[in-house]
Amino acid sequence: MEKKYSDDCIFCLIAAGKAPSKKIWENEDFLAIENKFPEAPIDILVLPKAHLEKSEARTSPDGYWDSFMKAIWEVVSAGGYDRTGYVLQNNGAGYNHLEHEHMHILSGMPKPTSA
Ligand SMILES: [Zn+2]
Ligand SMILES: [Zn+2]
Repeated sequence: MEKKYSDDCIFCLIAAGKAPSKKIWENEDFLAIENKFPEAPIDILVLPKAHLEKSEARTSPDGYWDSFMKAIWEVVSAGGYDRTGYVLQNNGAGYNHLEHEHMHILSGMPKPTSA
């Protein structure tokens, strides 16, 4: 995978080790960090190490989201959230804070009473 990098993107700086983060998990292409501004008791960000604009997500190469989701399941499993419960969140079009594509693993909030 071609590694794209943007100098004014905080996630790119974190992935390059040029900005601090609380790293939870990583493999060659993806990184999981604690959200500095959590939206839930547990808020983990899973992001590609290479810059991927939200607008490019739809046209990313075949297999890209397969790898992305496998990275997410690794973090979910390692944290035991598959037992305790979690929500995956992907924000867009004004609800997202950063254009560098990422997914939130949220946990620890009250569970819904009905399905
Ligand atoms: Zn970036
Ligand atoms: Zn976000």
